[in-house]
Amino acid sequence: SSHSRSLRPSMFDIAKIRADFPLLNETVNEQPLVYLDSAATSQKPQAVIDALARFYSHENANVHRGRHTLSENATRQYEHTRTLLADYFSVKANELVWTKGATESINLIANGLASRLKPGDKIAISAIEHHANIVPWQQLAKRTGADLIILPIEDDLVIDSVKCCEFIKLYQPKIVAVTHASNTLGNITDLAPIITACKAINAISVIDGAQAAMHLRPNLQEISCDFYVFSAHKMLGPTGLGGLYGRFELLNSLDVYQTGGEMIETVSLTQSTFRDAPGKFEAGTPNIAGVIAFSEAIKYLTSLDFQQMRQHEHTVFDYAIKQLSAIDGINIYSNQIHNIGNISFNYRDEHPFDLATLLDGFGVAVRSGHHCTQPIMSHLHIPGTVRASFALYNNKDDVDAFIDALKNSIELLD
Ligand code: PLP
Repeated sequence: SSHSRSLRPSMFDIAKIRADFPLLNETVNEQPLVYLDSAATSQKPQAVIDALARFYSHENANVHRGRHTLSENATRQYEHTRTLLADYFSVKANELVWTKGATESINLIANGLASRLKPGDKIAISAIEHHANIVPWQQLAKRTGADLIILPIEDDLVIDSVKCCEFIKLYQPKIVAVTHASNTLGNITDLAPIITACKAINAISVIDGAQAAMHLRPNLQEISCDFYVFSAHKMLGPTGLGGLYGRFELLNSLDVYQTGGEMIETVSLTQSTFRDAPGKFEAGTPNIAGVIAFSEAIKYLTSLDFQQMRQHEHTVFDYAIKQLSAIDGINIYSNQIHNIGNISFNYRDEHPFDLATLLDGFGVAVRSGHHCTQPIMSHLHIPGTVRASFALYNNKDDVDAFIDALKNSIELLD
């Protein structure tokens, strides 16, 4: 009942959350830091930082090799993180492969699918993809003689699901690779109709979840795509770590990407056999400390009530949009409703680098440039944008400080 609900203490205590992220207390250029660059990499809670130090101080050993206590302990923790992440995404642990990030994940998938493509086959991507979800497909097309085709977008740079479905039906691509949310704009893609259209023609769906994996806590079983890639460092985890989900049968049937130790079953001097997924895609010594520390990030995220977290993110985002829109000369490119929390904008025709540099002087960390999405910039006929990206640990005070700094910066420009 609403009565019992109102008695429940709020699980989303923003002051307590901010205290868990030591970097938020730093000063930059003698100003308190306002970190609005979480789309590039998120900050890390103390639990993740402590887990890295604990592993290297007390537990360091290689995985999957030794029979000694430390090695077995490291292996157990390494595999336990996979289980935690499987729960997070509502999939099975053997459907998750560790890589060094979303970029490596997409390269692994593109390479693994090469032998299935023939000249004239089509690979479909959207025009708002990160370069990491463009260039590997261009390379794959070159290597196999396949053609890269571009899915339709709406005028406001949202992937047009309805038109996409018609497009997929018409052109029958073998692979469809789209982002779950744009890093530059924050715009969220309505995946369901696209996945349905892919299934209808047996196209392989590859979803770039680098931006959405933390903000949307996606249930991949429900989304039911074939592949979903992510970066741990954008989900409160350590850098140099990411991974991919692949529907087991399909994943296990991919050609291997890197080869060597760890990924094999047997090796003779002339031939080798490989382990089943995920092992066969994890050649060499992995980022053991990173994976183990990432378990603390997953636990942190899942300790937060998802609805409350999104509600908080929405509140801060809406507030930022409202404040920004009130400034004369600000042009916002992001969709203002279906958004994970990334706002791309410019001030009149000032260069985004200048604005970002001035903001930095006020302690405000934003990103400027093309954000690895040059096709979006071409579409908008601009060299770049300023991007303020928010995460669960940002609050309205951050927005106020950002808007103050922005007004001061504009005064310096004018
Ligand atoms: N895809 C998107 C949408 C991204 O935002 C990023 C990182 O900015 C990537 C892919 C690449 O991720 P990583 O640099 O962690 O490999």
